[in-house]
Amino acid sequence: MENKKEIPYKIYLEESEMPKAWYNLRADMKNKPAPLLNPGTGQPMTAEELGGVFCDELVKQELDNDTKFYPIPQEIRDFYKMYRPSPLVRAYCLEEKLQTPAKIYYKFEGNNTSGSHKLNSAIAQAYYAKKQGLKGVTTETGAGQWGTALSMACAYLGLDCKVFMVKVSYEQKPFRREVMRTYGADVTPSPSDKTEVGRKILAEFPGTTGSLGCAISEAVEVAVTNPGYRYVLGSVLNQVLLHQSVIGLETKIALDKYDIKPDMIIGCAGGGSNLGGLIAPFMGEKLRGEADYQIIAVEPASCPSFTRGTFAYDFCDTGMICPLAKMYTLGSSFIPSANHAGGLRFHGMSTVLSQLYHDGLMEARAVEQSSVFEAAEYFARTEGILPAPESSHAIRVAIDEALKCKETGEEKTIVFGLTGTGYFDLKAYESYNDGTMTDYIPTDAEIAASVAKLPKL
Ligand SMILES: *Cc1c(COP(=O)(O)O)cnc(C)c1O
Repeated sequence: MENKKEIPYKIYLEESEMPKAWYNLRADMKNKPAPLLNPGTGQPMTAEELGGVFCDELVKQELDNDTKFYPIPQEIRDFYKMYRPSPLVRAYCLEEKLQTPAKIYYKFEGNNTSGSHKLNSAIAQAYYAKKQGLKGVTTETGAGQWGTALSMACAYLGLDCKVFMVKVSYEQKPFRREVMRTYGADVTPSPSDKTEVGRKILAEFPGTTGSLGCAISEAVEVAVTNPGYRYVLGSVLNQVLLHQSVIGLETKIALDKYDIKPDMIIGCAGGGSNLGGLIAPFMGEKLRGEADYQIIAVEPASCPSFTRGTFAYDFCDTGMICPLAKMYTLGSSFIPSANHAGGLRFHGMSTVLSQLYHDGLMEARAVEQSSVFEAAEYFARTEGILPAPESSHAIRVAIDEALKCKETGEEKTIVFGLTGTGYFDLKAYESYNDGTMTDYIPTDAEIAASVAKLPKL
C-alpha cells in the first residue's frame, strides 16, 4: 500500500493525541481468560482474597473482563507526559541495509531513564497505592528493569518502595541497584534475613544466590505483614496488560494518522505485558472481525513457554504461594538456564495471551540467544539504538520476516515493539563480542519433568 502522506523518520504524536483511556482487550474476547484460582480451595480468587495482597482498584481491574475502557487518571497522564507519547520510528536505515521491500516500524519504549516499557504500569500501580492511602509497596526484581521503573514512580508520588532483588543480580548489576537507591528505594538482596521465608531458605541453602520465585515470596510476605503496604508485580497480570495498552493505542493512532495498515505485529514475550499492550487495539479489531493482522510473540529458545509449554493451571511463582493461573507454562519448577534476556525468563505467560494463542489468534516463535544478539548488533549498527536483549528477540523475527519479503518481493508492513535499551546489559554484549555466548535449549525430558509437577486440580 502506498502512503499518501510522506512518512517522517519518527512519528511523534502531540501530547493531546495521547490516549485518554486504557483499553481492556478482555472485553472483546469471546473466550475470556480463565480466572485465577485459590491454590488452597481450587475456587476462583475473590476480590477480598486478592485485596490482602494488591491495591483495591488494581484488584478491580484484574477481575474485570467486561469494561472496555478505563479512563487514565489525570495524574498518571501528567506523568506519562514526561516520556510519552513515545516515538513510532520508521526503520529506513534498517530497510535500506537489508535491501527489503518491507516497511519496518518500531515503537520505542526505551525513552525514559528506567529504560523500558515497565514504567507505564509502574506509575499506574504506584498511583492507585497512593490513592488508597498506603505507605508503600513491595516487589521483586530480577534483571532490575521493573524495580527501577517502580522506584522512579514511587519517588514521584512520595511512596515507600521496598525491592527484593535476586542476590546474584544485586551483586552483578550494582549500577541498576544504585539507580533504584538514587530514586529512594530500599533494595535488599534476596534471600535475606528480613523475612521468615528468606531466613528459612538461607538456613536450608546457605550461600544460595537466590531466584525470582524466592524474591516474590519475600516481597509478598513483607506486604501482607506490614500495615499500609501492598505487593505489586510488573508483568503477567491482566492489570499490567491493561496499563500497557497505552503502547498499542499510541501505535494505532500514529499509524492511522499516516494511513498505514500493518500486516504483521511482532513483540517479545516474557510474561506478556508489552506484547499484550502493543497488540491490544489490533487484536480487538481482529476479534471484532474488523481487520486481520499476523501477530507473532517471540520468546527465548531457553524458556519456550508458548512453543513448548502446556496450557494448564499452574503457580505463578516457584515458592507456590501465589494464585494459580491458566496459562502456557513450562511448570513452576522449571528453572531456565542462565540467559541474558532476564526479562524473558518466566516459566509461564499472561492468561490473556495464553487464551488468544490457544484460540489460534496469534503465533509464537522461539529464537536462540546468539542469533538474537546478532540481530541486536545489526540493529545497533544500522538504527543506532543499543537494544535490550529482551527487545532484540522481536528485532530478530522482524529482520527474518523482512528478509522473507526480500525473497518474495512482498511489500509487507511490519511493526515491532522495541521495549528497551541495553545499557545495563553490557556483560551480555561482552560475552557476545568475545564469542563466548552459549544457549542452553532444554530437552523434552526436562520440560516433561517440570510439567509432570503441575498442580492437580
Ligand atoms: C521485562 C521486559 C520484557 C518482558 O516483559 P513482558 O511483560 O513480556 O513485556 C521485555 N523487554 C524489556 C526491556 C523488559 O524490561
